[in-house]
Amino acid sequence: MSLPPLRQPKHFQYKPLEHPKQKEVTKTPVDYVIVTLKSDSKLVVASDAYHGILTVGGMFKCVVCDVSMENMNIKDLHKLSPQHKKKLMECPHLEDFSIHLLRQINPDNYYCTICNVVVSKYITVRHVSTEAHKEELNKAKNRAAFYKSVD
Ligand SMILES: [Zn+2]
Ligand SMILES: [Zn+2]
Repeated sequence: MSLPPLRQPKHFQYKPLEHPKQKEVTKTPVDYVIVTLKSDSKLVVASDAYHGILTVGGMFKCVVCDVSMENMNIKDLHKLSPQHKKKLMECPHLEDFSIHLLRQINPDNYYCTICNVVVSKYITVRHVSTEAHKEELNKAKNRAAFYKSVD
């Protein structure tokens, strides 16, 4: 196993800039993670996406550990658990896919952090060239350009 291609991510809360006339719209702050690539460029992805957690029918599923969780509290605890962290370390973002942030989660499947989806190994190359993926990648780049760190 080679060294993970990416540096340790920084965690922060991303607050979308509010339109002055839309003050009454309260958005739930979402936890985001800044991923710094080897090239020093940055991508900002939702924390759940970084951790490989999907929302399925009101439940959460960690595709890295292959477990389902009933609610947000359990999900948040799961992200902090040593077992999950270990699993995550074992499937780092693959250097071959650079900015596309794919992890190999099992022999047959990859996980796209950018889109928060599981991708079959046969279509990984096709997946990263789809419009949907490019759009999500652009969003991640734009967030990186505009994020404000809160501590
Ligand atoms: Zn997990
Ligand atoms: Zn994708």
